[in-house]
Amino acid sequence: MSHEVPSRPAIAQLPELVKNQIAAGEVIERPASVVKELVENALDAGAARIHLDLEEGGVALIRIVDDGCGIPPAEIPLAFASHATSKLSDVADLDHIATLGFRGEALASIASVARCRMFSRVRGTPLGASVEVEGGRLGEIRESGGPEGTRIEVRDLFFNTPARRRFLKATATELGRCLDVVQRLALAQPGVGFVVTHDGRRAFEVEPAMDLRARVRRTFGAELADALAPVEVRDGDTVLSGFVAPPRFARNDTTRQMWFLNGRPLRDKILSRVLKDAYRGFIVDGRQSVAFLSLSMDPAKVDVNVHPAKAEVRFRDERRMFGFLVASLRAAVSTIDMATPGERMIDAALRREPSAPVARQFTLPAPAWEPRPEPRERELPVLVREPAPSPASAPTALTASPDLTVAPAATRAQSVRGPLLQVGRTYILQATEDGFEIVDQHALHERLTLEDLKAELARGAVEVQRRLVPELVEVGGAAAELVEPHLEALARIGLLLARFGSGTIAVHGVPARFRRADPAALVHEVIAAVERTGAAPGAEDLLEEILHRTACRSSVMAGDELSELEMRSLLSRAREESNSQTCAHGRPTRVRFTLADLEKAFYRR
Ligand code: ADP
Ligand code: MG
Repeated sequence: MSHEVPSRPAIAQLPELVKNQIAAGEVIERPASVVKELVENALDAGAARIHLDLEEGGVALIRIVDDGCGIPPAEIPLAFASHATSKLSDVADLDHIATLGFRGEALASIASVARCRMFSRVRGTPLGASVEVEGGRLGEIRESGGPEGTRIEVRDLFFNTPARRRFLKATATELGRCLDVVQRLALAQPGVGFVVTHDGRRAFEVEPAMDLRARVRRTFGAELADALAPVEVRDGDTVLSGFVAPPRFARNDTTRQMWFLNGRPLRDKILSRVLKDAYRGFIVDGRQSVAFLSLSMDPAKVDVNVHPAKAEVRFRDERRMFGFLVASLRAAVSTIDMATPGERMIDAALRREPSAPVARQFTLPAPAWEPRPEPRERELPVLVREPAPSPASAPTALTASPDLTVAPAATRAQSVRGPLLQVGRTYILQATEDGFEIVDQHALHERLTLEDLKAELARGAVEVQRRLVPELVEVGGAAAELVEPHLEALARIGLLLARFGSGTIAVHGVPARFRRADPAALVHEVIAAVERTGAAPGAEDLLEEILHRTACRSSVMAGDELSELEMRSLLSRAREESNSQTCAHGRPTRVRFTLADLEKAFYRR
């Protein structure tokens, strides 16, 4: 028998070009990745103006010209060598990276998959030098004249790696991605001017002096830019600044949540979670807020070297950071005017362009007629539609109407005057100082109930309605298992539940405010909340989530006829509440039309 040894290639070092092409596979996927690396280099070089010309979506040509520090002729070969950088010299430097690049791989990678040309002249020196690099082969360095700064041309991307080239998309798509990269960097770096052309036409431009709001306006339009609310807070040497958008700008994805850390655009899950928490209760489930936020902090307190594209970070003190960010942003978000503006509807109906921004100074719901003294002060009576439930009240009480109780003392100062009109048993029309508002009675009452519940919870004073006979709700073993660890916390919000057999939950009592609620539905809300808040939710998170989900069960419904007095007490309670602009699920409670809007609608202007 012959013993055949299968033929086997010997182990060998890869040629430099192949190494660089493999490295390019990590970071250079498409024209937009080249654009990102080149613009970052220009920014690291301290450029104040960056000019970018693209052809065929960047596949045929990417040319970048900057007015940065430049590269001395002798160092040009090194700029194209792999693992060669001027931004890092030893391991310790990795702990406090202040530049956008530091891996020293980008130019080597790009030059291995495209035809490149560079000219560079160091600031303050008389002459520069140029070089050509093709498929990784460095040409001769030639001294030559030219402006201070650096110009790099990248042609025929992936000319020698056809497999990559096949994955490129249509020109418009590649261009879109290039623009997206530039726009993000332009938003991250106020102070730097950008010009982008595509096939000879101007595609994007911001001047160096434009601030963040002006850059958002240029990139995403005036309507968003003018509606943004500013944020500016500091925690030690960490500064958070930027803008949060009103909830009505929410989208299905997080692409307009832009975070910048020391001038570096980030995409990080934890930062999306921060915004989710900051907007909780102001945005409907599944939608994502819009925000432009810049963090400046000591580079030593954050690790950016966790991913080759450097878009993710690790904060050294993540818990503190998270708390600081959520609290600051939530405060900013709650200052936003969340009423749906009638103006937009009128513009759409009349097919008009939105008019020039009138800087609308937002003050919480303007009392309609308050300043005018009434001849005879009429005190609003306390409105209680039914006696408080006795502990033993029968389950039938669950169908009674909700409270619209008003404390008389508070009411006097806050009374809502002027005519009110209920429309479709669902909406309340109310005159404001300069127009009118349409209030969704259910959405508003739900929010007020939520805030009341939270206040009661904080005081430890949740009123419970116990049931003589517990109601048994079949949920299945897995769900019962899920809820069990939270029974004690649930009792604190007045939900007295117990496990009964393997797959059944017994409802022994519910918050008195929930007398309308169907116990089975409540239990299922609890399960959904536990599922949603994740593996081991803190009691506070879980309670808040459940309060949000259940507040609507004890509120006036769309379709409930309200007396004038009830409307008045509802609206005056809203006045006392700092936070009544959205319902517990994040839908707006009001649509507002100003006199100016009406003038527009009637073609008076
Ligand atoms: P990195 O940015 O990680 O250092 P690169 O391969 O992108 O690696 O660039 C290599 C080096 O070339 C940089 O460290 C820098 O010194 C120099 N360089 C690249 N682009 C520019 C530029 N536009 N202006 C000045 N220097 C540059
Ligand atoms: Mg770089």
